[in-house]
Formats: sequence, C-alpha cells, structure tokens
Amino acid sequence: MLNYRKDLEKMPSYDGTEKDYRIKVNANESTLNLPPLVEERVLNRLSYVAFNRYPNEEYDLLVEQIAKNFSVTKNQILLGGGSSEIIEKVFLAFGGEGRKVVYPQPSFSMYKIYARAAESQAFPFDLDENFDLNVDAFIKKVKDLRADLAVVCNPNNPTGNALTVAQVEEIAKNIDCAFLLDEAYVEFYGYSAVNLIKNYPNLIVARTFSKAYGMAAVRVGYMIAAEDVTKMINKTFMPYHMNTLTLATADIVYQMRDEFVSRIQMTVAERERMFERYQNLREIEVFPSQTNFLLIRYEKAAALQEYLDNLDIGVRYFSASAAGLKNCLRISIGTALENDEVFSAIKNFVEGK
Ligand SMILES: *Cc1c(COP(=O)(O)O)cnc(C)c1O
Repeated sequence: MLNYRKDLEKMPSYDGTEKDYRIKVNANESTLNLPPLVEERVLNRLSYVAFNRYPNEEYDLLVEQIAKNFSVTKNQILLGGGSSEIIEKVFLAFGGEGRKVVYPQPSFSMYKIYARAAESQAFPFDLDENFDLNVDAFIKKVKDLRADLAVVCNPNNPTGNALTVAQVEEIAKNIDCAFLLDEAYVEFYGYSAVNLIKNYPNLIVARTFSKAYGMAAVRVGYMIAAEDVTKMINKTFMPYHMNTLTLATADIVYQMRDEFVSRIQMTVAERERMFERYQNLREIEVFPSQTNFLLIRYEKAAALQEYLDNLDIGVRYFSASAAGLKNCLRISIGTALENDEVFSAIKNFVEGK
C-alpha cells in the first residue's frame, strides 16, 4: 500500500510535454538562443567550474550584482530555480492550513497548484470582461477575507495587460498581508515596482531569467523583498539549492544584460506590429499586451489550434476549464518571419481559405 500524502492524488499536474514544433510560440520562451557573444563567454566560464565544491561564492556573486543593480542590500535577495521555485516558496512561507491566498483569474495557472501544495485555501478573484483588475474590489476582497497572501502577476500571463506602478502601490498600501508581485514579463513592459519595496515591507517581487533573457533551460529567478521577509522565506529553501552551472551562467548573462536590450526592443516592436495585424482580422479579437505574447479570442479556437499544430506551429490553447479563457489562444512573439508565418496561417484559417 502506497500511502501518498493527503490530497496528492487530486493535485493538478502541469503538463510540460510538448512536440518539437517547427515554430514554437506556445511557452513564451525567447525563440532566439543566447546572443553569440554571451554564449561564448558562458561556455568559457563553464570551462573552469569547480565541480567538487558546493556553490557558495557563485551564489554570492550573482546576488551582489542584482543587489547593486536595484540599489538594495544582498540580504534582500534570494535566488531560485526559476521564479517558479521562488513563487512556490513564497506560497509555502505564507501558507498552511487555515491560510488564505487571493490572486486574480485568469492568471498564471500555477498559482492554484502552489496554493494546494501549501495547503492554503485559494480565492481566485475574477478580472473584468477586458481582463482588467478592479483594484479597489481586489483590495476589499483581500481585506474582507483577512487573507495571508495576495498575488498579482504584472504584466499578467496569459492576458498580457498590466497595472501601472501607481496601481500596484495602491494595493501594497492598502493591504497588510504579504503581497507577491510576479514580474516575469516586466522587461517587455518597462515599469517595475521593485522601488516600492523600501516603502512597503509587505511587498515581494519575483523576477526570472527565463523570458527576456532567454534562459528558460537554465532555471534561474530571484526575489527582492525587505530583509526580514527574505530571511524568513529563506528558511523554506534547501541548502545549496542553486547549482554552480546555473549560477555561473546567470552571472555572465547578468553582467552582459546590455546585449539583450536590442532583442527586447525587437520583441516589443514585433508585438505592436502583430497586434495591429491581428486587430485588422475581423474574425479575431486580440488583447493589448505589455509582454512577449498576444492573447487572441476566436470562436473556433480549438479547431484553429489543431490546424496550426498540423502545420507544426505550436501555440497555447486554453481549455474550457480555464476560467475566463474560453476560445482563447496565446501566441508568443518570435522573429518577424515566424510571426508573419503564424499570422498568415491564422488568416487563412479564419477566412476559410
Ligand atoms: C514563465 C513564468 C514564470 C516563471 O518561469 P521560470 O522559468 O520558473 O522562471 C513565473 N510566472 C509567470 C507568470 C510566468 O509566465
């Protein structure tokens, strides 16, 4: 008899299996590998890794760089295996039986899973019909519930829209529980709320190298918060949870982050160009985005996804079970050629050609 942990069976799984698509725009990855100059320096750095040693120095070096960039102390930063690990640990640190977590929906599908893993009670808060967050109502809900953790993804995945920093501040100011802000896509938006941390010690900001820095394979993210908060969340991590290969790679990438500016700008320009093209397709509704993807709605989304799949184009389809996302597809921004090819395929399908 295998006695699994209570409720493990009911735990939803994140389905990470996927095809090796010719055009892969389903997971908000960068469609380009590291800039060649960065890759060269990374590979050189990896040629002198001390494989026999636990990763101490490498952890500190990366933390130091990040702290310097944000003008915060090293004790305000924690690294994680992707921001996924950071988010999971924040849910654990503020979770447990009787604890309540509130987050908007539709948003990142993993919040629900982390809430369950932490054995917290989840209270999704519905976005309006334009996927906007009613900030006052959200604050009220967090307060009325006496929630222990509020989570907001900004800009939001998968809807693409964003709160202003003033709106984020409004939330931070008016709730007194922990407030996790997931800034996975903030580089494509340009307005981070990290500077609010000094005034609002309940605010925790999670960032990742996976999206703008094209490092999804390496698994590295970080969080910034007040020193006391960081110290407590740190208790939920294993010792040496970050490996030296990841740390050394991220260290070089962070040092060379200027090399990514032009491709981030290119992605933003492409997003705007494609937004207009989709807007001109009468059959389709496209939502404004501050990220590296566009969300579209189309009445035969499931059939469209299948059609694209047959053309070896991978987009993200949201099943009817994803609240608020009926008939929605999420399309990551790739190169101009990829974006145009995806668009042409979609145009052909919806125009019945
Ligand atoms: C991609 C993503 C993350 C984190 O990804 P990692 O690869 O684990 O850093 C976190 N939040 C949202 C909303 C994302 O889309």
